[in-house]
Amino acid sequence: MKTLSDFKGFAGELPERDEKLPALFVGHGSPMNAIEDNEFSRAWHELGQTLPRPDAILCISAHWETSGTFVTAMERPKTIHDFGGFPQALFDVQYPAPGDPRLVEETRRLSRHADIQPDHAWGLDHGCWSVLENVYPAADIPVVQLSLDRTKPAAWHYEMAKDLASLRKRGVLILGSGNMVHNLRVIDWRNPNGGYDWAEETSAKMKELIEAGDHATLANYGLIGAGATLAIPTPEHYLPLLYVLALQEKNERATFFSDELVMGSIAMTSVKIA
Ligand code: ZN
Repeated sequence: MKTLSDFKGFAGELPERDEKLPALFVGHGSPMNAIEDNEFSRAWHELGQTLPRPDAILCISAHWETSGTFVTAMERPKTIHDFGGFPQALFDVQYPAPGDPRLVEETRRLSRHADIQPDHAWGLDHGCWSVLENVYPAADIPVVQLSLDRTKPAAWHYEMAKDLASLRKRGVLILGSGNMVHNLRVIDWRNPNGGYDWAEETSAKMKELIEAGDHATLANYGLIGAGATLAIPTPEHYLPLLYVLALQEKNERATFFSDELVMGSIAMTSVKIA
């Protein structure tokens, strides 16, 4: 196994580019979106056709929580099938994108809030590859995952993300993957294309706050309103949104796509910062 020190010396730098890449938060929903042809997978496919092509992708997935912060530092991150009870076709999906030692080094160097450590055990989980399988099906753009430190409050994650802002000028697509409303305990299988009243209200309120640029309330999500407890029963699917909002600069807008609630309690609402 290569260690990070093996990468040093030939890793080089991520070159600065003329254009800054957008930052994206994608509501990933069911892992089946990786292989189904539906409105969400089609929207992700379209992203791949319309976004400036990145040199590398830094993905913050709801499905990688750790104590401390880590980045995947392997040359060939494995595809992790971190779910059960799905068809074999989903377990057969491989997303063989390479890692990127330059991005690992640069992410570690930029972070002032976290002492980011290289990881050699994780890989790409479905929060990452279910989306990228549709955005960049050729898997030919290097991908590094950044973990969520489960010991830190939401406001810390928001501040931590700001350290990484300059990556957008170095050809890096920062992709947060979660769901801003996500409650599996009350999921309503009979309602594939709709949401509970509290989910509708809370996602509408979140969108208002995003449009108003009120990140302080969003980063202290208990303040969003009564529905926040149901919408965010645990923080991991919500936090990737904060990583993307934190990158918004004064002259940039947040726009929404895939703005739908599914199965009562999951918002597929996705946000592009550009
Ligand atoms: Zn998920």
